[in-house]
Amino acid sequence: MSKIWVVAQTRADGIHPMALETLVAGQELAAASGGTVDALVMGDSVSARAAELASWELGSVQTLEAPALAAYTPGAYVAALAAAIRANAPDIVLFPHTYQTVDHVPRLAQALGAALVPEVVSFEVRDGAVIWRRPVLGGKLQADVRAKGSPILASVQAGAFSASDRRQGTAQVSALSIDVELEADREILGVEEVAGEHIDLSAADRVVAAGRGVGGEDKLGVVHDLAKALKAEVGASRPVIDSGWLPRDCQIGSSGQTISPKLYFGVGISGAIQHLVGMKGSQVIVAVNKDKSAPIFGVADYGIVGDLHEVIPAVIQALEETEGD
Ligand SMILES: Cc1cc2nc3c(=O)[nH]c(=O)nc-3n(C[C@H](O)[C@H](O)[C@H](O)COP(=O)(O)OP(=O)(O)OC[C@H]3O[C@@H](n4cnc5c(N)ncnc54)[C@H](O)[C@@H]3O)c2cc1C
Repeated sequence: MSKIWVVAQTRADGIHPMALETLVAGQELAAASGGTVDALVMGDSVSARAAELASWELGSVQTLEAPALAAYTPGAYVAALAAAIRANAPDIVLFPHTYQTVDHVPRLAQALGAALVPEVVSFEVRDGAVIWRRPVLGGKLQADVRAKGSPILASVQAGAFSASDRRQGTAQVSALSIDVELEADREILGVEEVAGEHIDLSAADRVVAAGRGVGGEDKLGVVHDLAKALKAEVGASRPVIDSGWLPRDCQIGSSGQTISPKLYFGVGISGAIQHLVGMKGSQVIVAVNKDKSAPIFGVADYGIVGDLHEVIPAVIQALEETEGD
């Protein structure tokens, strides 16, 4: 029977959406392996965040609080997690595959001498062992991996599981203590938003994505207008970024961001596999392309075949007409 932990990353407005998806992965893994799943919430004062999980079907919600965990620093996080894992011996520890965990979980795996399986998109339990599936070679192949030893650390890719599939129940919140002195390994002197354009698309509810089919930087106005009408962030395929039409932060795909918004609206994007792996977890996919055989239509819930410079203004007009309805 596996003892599974899910480290539920927080952000200013609550539990990180990708951590909620990872908790669902934990619930499904517990059900498949006949194990238990507990959430771990870290910070300096996290009772409100922990309470958000009290209505989930979990063995418990554990809080790990210390002043040194107030702001994220990899040294303090690795020290705290290593101590907590050594003392409680979970078999599997799941993390959301976020920028933060990419930064510190490999160090944690090294500190524990543990196997790390990054970017998991699914799993199955075979003969009592968990077989993890993850994309390799830029998403061209899927590898099935069995990790050795204990604990096993794994990070779960955005969109692989849906928070709406959570099993509800009741979970007791309790405090976890560790017997190490934690010290932040760096002092955060301040955090500044990068002027204008640093975008975390993985947290966006709605994304309008521009492709090469838009036709040039000077023709992006229609994409920005649609994003404004939908209150969406703007993303893009790689050629748009490589051509310098939009900043690198906007790239969606195997070498860009992985997103799972409620709405993805692709404009002039063909749907190459390297792009699809970054957005196919979106809840609703809309695509506009003048080529009816474009691969993007294979994953789209709604497809519009036509010239985007005619279709998008009509969509914006329709949105404006229905606003307030
Ligand atoms: C190692 C590697 C990593 C990569 N990583 C990424 C990645 O992270 N993200 C990514 O996106 N790509 C990535 N790529 C590139 C990827 O293979 C594709 O080349 C890219 O996704 C294509 O972008 P696109 O759909 O915008 O352009 P295209 O494939 O050129 O498609 C443009 C589409 O626009 C349509 N179109 C043209 N004009 C109009 C019009 N007026 N109205 C409507 N539709 C129109 C066309 O029919 C076409 O389907 C990677 C490639 C490699 C080799």
